[in-house]
Amino acid sequence: VRRNPGEAEFHQAVKEVFESLSPVLKRNPQYVDAAVLERICEPERQIIFRVPWMDDENNVQINRGFRVEFSSVLGPYKGGLRFHPSVYLGIIKFLGFEQIFKNSLTGMPIGGGKGGSDFDPRGRSEGEIMRFCQSFMTELYRHLGEYTDVPAGDIGVGGREIGYMFGQYKRITNRYESGVLTGKGLTWGGSLVRTEATGFGTVFFTEEMAKARGESLDGRRVVVSGSGNVAIYAAEKATELGAKVVGCSDSSGFIVDEEGLDLDLLKQVKEVERARIVEYANRRGSSATFSDTGSIWDVPCDVALPCATQNELNAEHARTLIKNGVKAVSEGANMPCTPDAVALLQEAGVAFGPGKAANAGGVATSALEMQQNASRDSWDFEYTEQRLHNIMIDIHERCAETAEEYGTPGNYVLGANIAGFTKVADAVIALGVI
Ligand code: NDP
Repeated sequence: VRRNPGEAEFHQAVKEVFESLSPVLKRNPQYVDAAVLERICEPERQIIFRVPWMDDENNVQINRGFRVEFSSVLGPYKGGLRFHPSVYLGIIKFLGFEQIFKNSLTGMPIGGGKGGSDFDPRGRSEGEIMRFCQSFMTELYRHLGEYTDVPAGDIGVGGREIGYMFGQYKRITNRYESGVLTGKGLTWGGSLVRTEATGFGTVFFTEEMAKARGESLDGRRVVVSGSGNVAIYAAEKATELGAKVVGCSDSSGFIVDEEGLDLDLLKQVKEVERARIVEYANRRGSSATFSDTGSIWDVPCDVALPCATQNELNAEHARTLIKNGVKAVSEGANMPCTPDAVALLQEAGVAFGPGKAANAGGVATSALEMQQNASRDSWDFEYTEQRLHNIMIDIHERCAETAEEYGTPGNYVLGANIAGFTKVADAVIALGVI
């Protein structure tokens, strides 16, 4: 804390991982001798830069850009870019730190990093978004490369923004280096299933947790928070597996739809029109209601999928969910549940899927996009989705087996942290003091 003052989310993420590790350190004193924990907590490189751009009224605007290259012992730095006014170093470092272990868990050769800016895309014109993205990349490009650092999207960064950044990278470097960014459009190097991957993967993981208890998602009531990239496709896959998704949200409030979400309408409102969630209720008819008071976690459900942002589900929400009979909570977002909420859910016997395992499908499919780019190939939807599905089954198995091995069966938090960590720790030692 003294070394990294004021970075509350980063401290929270480190504490959460380290709390799982004492049995590992007891079994592996070499990790302590080689100062592995100290090394993993210190990013290999942190880049902070000015992003100047002109708005539509010809005013000069200044934002701050970040890229934290955390660990490259398993492969090039890999992790998304977030554009949101709340972004500061502590958020990027928490996300980058989580990303190391998540990427390790996928079994793919990728290191961990994260970046972004305090730029707020909300209410900005197309031209402003493009100029911002171009300026951001004009500085960042020198740190990227398919063997060095490969960013992707996150909150506020989707296909449109990746396109503008890829265009600027191509222009500056005079290289069509597809593997430098993932989340690209399908006609210019993108992969099928990448858009859907995080949400689909979260539901595949939840399905595995249910199977491990002899249950399924069929007929279950599901509530998803957020209505962005992760939330929409989590809702889609849950619906496909027979669940009824009765609620979702954005930062202005939440909707409840007792007939189950109309996914075409939701995509039209959120992906095409980029409108507020109340629009969904306005057009859906009598089955849907909008609320801007209370919490989406007050809506009774069997399965809760927090897919919006960090610390959005606290202890009070967890108590309500438990009282309403929730059976599983799986984190589509990064660190959406506060530590006390996680503790309450686990004590109540709720199946809990931590983000680093449950939302790893996005980055895993980004690694599949990199494979396709490297071999100048593109795979069809079914094949790619099958690869994603198998990866999620493997991640679940790895977490479950590790939890069992360390005497805490069913504790996916411990399983994910230990399995993710040991692979990285062994590589840190193998590569020497670098
Ligand atoms: P999007 O920008 O597509 O969507 C974010 C959604 O969450 C929006 O509905 C947004 O509402 C809502 N939201 C954001 N911040 C807040 C807030 N402070 N309070 C309430 N609601 C909020 O982002 P993604 O779907 O890509 O990302 C969602 C989460 O999933 C993040 O935690 C991200 O790190 C994580 N994640 C994403 C991956 C991906 O592949 N995209 C991969 C792995 C994890 P509004 O529009 O009103 O702001």
